[in-house]
Amino acid sequence: MKLLVAVKRVVDFNVKVRVKADQTGVELANVKMSMNPFDEIGVEEAVRLKEAGTVDEIVAVSMGPQQCQETIRTALAMGADRGILVKTDDELQPLAVAKLLKAIVEEEKPDIVILGKQAIDDDSNQTGQMLAGLLGWSQGTFASKLALTDGEAEVTREIDGGLETVKLKLPAVVTTDLRLNEPRYASLPNIMKAKKKTIDEKSPADYGVDTAPRLKTLKVEEPPKRSAGIKVADAAELVSKLREEGVI
Ligand code: AMP
Repeated sequence: MKLLVAVKRVVDFNVKVRVKADQTGVELANVKMSMNPFDEIGVEEAVRLKEAGTVDEIVAVSMGPQQCQETIRTALAMGADRGILVKTDDELQPLAVAKLLKAIVEEEKPDIVILGKQAIDDDSNQTGQMLAGLLGWSQGTFASKLALTDGEAEVTREIDGGLETVKLKLPAVVTTDLRLNEPRYASLPNIMKAKKKTIDEKSPADYGVDTAPRLKTLKVEEPPKRSAGIKVADAAELVSKLREEGVI
């Protein structure tokens, strides 16, 4: 069984994101970038499936500038077998990523594609669903458990009221939620080994995909600053303050 996993390079989750002075986006210059945390979970799941003998080959795909190669190398060091970098300096919105992934899926013919449920930079939560729609494949989103058996995937999904378990016919698209697993750290020997693994470099034009943005960002703003709180002596004072403020 062949598995494709999408890995996006995003601002590291520990970084305090700053809005650019001209409000066109967030500051990326000299900012630490890492693999999207949900994609690390995707790679971990793929590697566990390989270790269990269910999956034979893991292909890690990333799209964006040249530095996305580092993100693919991280996936290779965690245990992916080879990588595909679709190199572009243009902005890629979820629809463009989904179209490119569809083209790669048609070439690579994986049995399952794993993506993160969302990228922590744009928080779109769209790419996996769009990819499944474009391919006409089943989808299991927000997976907190994944089991593959003869031609089927059983996905336990995190939904508002609790957990939902769905059975999908393969090939299928699965997106990862936080509780699916805890990603491993790559060991030094595996980081060294990953340097020898192949990464194919492609461009959107190689796949004949039009990546022109369909959405326009009007402006990006910091959230409003919270005003300072006050201390109250007891519950009675709390209630009277809440009444004064019109909260209750
Ligand atoms: P989004 O729909 O933007 O929130 O992204 C959801 C998931 O799609 C991410 O967790 C990745 O697995 C995948 N994805 C989105 N953009 C890219 C990209 N540029 N390169 C690789 N994977 C991506």
